[in-house]
Amino acid sequence: MASPAVVWDSALLGYDLGGEHPFNPVRLELTVRLATELGVLDGVELLVPSAAGDEELLRIHAPEYLAAVREAPLVGWDVGHGLGTTDNPVFSGMHEASALVVGSTLLAARKIADGEVKRAVNIAGGLHHAMRDHASGFCVYNDCSVAISWLLDHGFDRIAYVDTDVHHGDGVQAAFYDDPRVLTVSLHQHPFTLWPGTGYSAETGKDKGAGTAVNVPLPPHTRDPGWLRAFNAVVPSLLAEFEPQILVTQCGVDSHEEDPLADLSLSVDGHRTIYATLRDLAETYAGGRWLAVGGGGYQLIRVVPRSWTHLIATVLDRDVAPETLLPPGWVDAVTRAAPAAEIPRAMTDDRDTTFKPWGDDADEPVDIAIRDTRRAVFPLHGLDPDDPRD
Ligand SMILES: [Zn+2]
Repeated sequence: MASPAVVWDSALLGYDLGGEHPFNPVRLELTVRLATELGVLDGVELLVPSAAGDEELLRIHAPEYLAAVREAPLVGWDVGHGLGTTDNPVFSGMHEASALVVGSTLLAARKIADGEVKRAVNIAGGLHHAMRDHASGFCVYNDCSVAISWLLDHGFDRIAYVDTDVHHGDGVQAAFYDDPRVLTVSLHQHPFTLWPGTGYSAETGKDKGAGTAVNVPLPPHTRDPGWLRAFNAVVPSLLAEFEPQILVTQCGVDSHEEDPLADLSLSVDGHRTIYATLRDLAETYAGGRWLAVGGGGYQLIRVVPRSWTHLIATVLDRDVAPETLLPPGWVDAVTRAAPAAEIPRAMTDDRDTTFKPWGDDADEPVDIAIRDTRRAVFPLHGLDPDDPRD
């Protein structure tokens, strides 16, 4: 078995929403540079993706939407389908750049399905808000959904998708809401307080897919211990019951305390712990198969590069110690490009991520979410929502 696959090509920087848009591709560039300078990518062959074809995009998206995306840069305004808005501005080469993002996650999925690797990571992926016929939340095509759909046709019939972005993974949930073969789990800031306003505990799937959508809406300002308490109270039990053949994870890092778009209060240390936990869960419940993609994350210099370097390192089993100093080459390059930026010293925010497991006598703010989510879905999986052993 080859070492895990890392998908990357600088052409992925072409997914650029332009101007002052928060979804700035520099976050990917700084991540790859940091991972490289820390030696995380030493000897790793980066897999170069090609754009997904229409036959793959049409798994999830409507033909008229593909046509609109292609034509949008020529038409420029009033194209509909969520395009040409502040969130989803039209840009030159939009179809091509968006199809390349899908192709990059598909390549990662293919490597795992072919048995060449057990794990793959693609930080350029994770566009989880894109819907069948419209762009949404900076996302044009939904690479997560296309890859899951492709996997369903290539030997997989039990796929678990876990979304740790601060926003609800609404596009992926919608694509598989009635499909019992795909378990979608999203932990996010409560929909009362954050776009897109969905992701309530009561959203649990429909028809044959009843129980296969799981949502954990967390109160604003939840910190690492609370987040991890909620995750561990919900996700491992469901994976044990669902018995996935692969774990697909969207690893958005906009849950960080310094993220400008949202209000959870996680740290880089919390993110590092999440990735190690996801790796353990893939090993324990999914035959070791783990496909990790990126997602949101808008603190471009201080957060995204460090957190996703930890993600890549975790996938590669090359874990980076939190106290590791940022390499001078990276610091110099960032200082030249952004002289005003306050650059962190090390790969840590000096946070303790120790958490108390749910079921103790403590009464934590996240326990409402834990209780509601467990009561909404655990009985549908034969689990007792009120028994901490389940
Ligand atoms: Zn997000």
